[in-house]
Amino acid sequence: MTDLLSDKICLVTGATRGIGRAVAESFAAESGVVIGTGTTDSGATQITEYLKTSGASGEGMRLDVNDVDSIVELQTKIQEKYGAVSVLVNNAGISRNNLVMRIKDAEWEEIIETNLNSVYRMCKTFMRGMMRQRYGRIINVSSVVGHIGNVGQAHYSASKSAILGFSKSLAMEIATRNVTVNMVVPGFIDTDMTNVLDEKVRDNLLSNIPLGRMGQPEEVANAVVFLASSQSSYITGSTIFVDGGMIRH
Ligand code: NAP
Repeated sequence: MTDLLSDKICLVTGATRGIGRAVAESFAAESGVVIGTGTTDSGATQITEYLKTSGASGEGMRLDVNDVDSIVELQTKIQEKYGAVSVLVNNAGISRNNLVMRIKDAEWEEIIETNLNSVYRMCKTFMRGMMRQRYGRIINVSSVVGHIGNVGQAHYSASKSAILGFSKSLAMEIATRNVTVNMVVPGFIDTDMTNVLDEKVRDNLLSNIPLGRMGQPEEVANAVVFLASSQSSYITGSTIFVDGGMIRH
């Protein structure tokens, strides 16, 4: 255990599994107080259990990012028990596959609501405390699909791409309060989200990754820890790609 995040209260959305869980566990290893969220009570309990096992302070809490009351409730609960959040990782997200011709309005809205509107709401709710304490780190999780598009993922791509414009603008608005806003852009990471891909799609994806393999959630978490720590003090409105070399600028 090191102490890159000692005394920091860190909130990670979607920490039941995949990238969010890896981030929460990495934060725990850096001595942060970690609050991880799941959409169900059992998910929250599971987060509390793994944090306890790692010897970290903090717990799992319930959050549905699409429910404004749920966000307010979470903020009140954390504030009363731990104090102001100083590191926020907007990781919760969903993906769906459908050609634009077939996307129903409800499906479009579900993706935009969960992946994009949630980021706006979470930032707005938690940045106040950060601005007051003149310290904050916001890390928004985007996707390579938001940069290069993908057949069947126009809605997902649009939501992840918009996170970029939002994060850059917010970074400019709150920089003077020493609150940074950065993005992590994962490529194809081995989680439940990508386990559903069939072999042909998977093989095709692998052929476009210079490092020749999918990434592990912990490899994304490493970048998030850096952006969450004071080591990234002069970086804001910026992006770290964790994509095995897929996107070359
Ligand atoms: P995952 O394994 O499917 O986990 C998704 C997490 O989001 C779960 O903890 C889930 O909670 C939570 N979540 C879903 N809907 C939610 C809601 N309405 N409110 C609150 N939490 C909600 O996903 P992942 O692969 O780790 O992806 C994490 C993030 O990275 C996403 O934003 C995704 O778009 C992005 N990303 C992933 C990849 C990849 O290759 N895996 C690539 C690029 C970007 P429950 O368990 O309670 O449902």
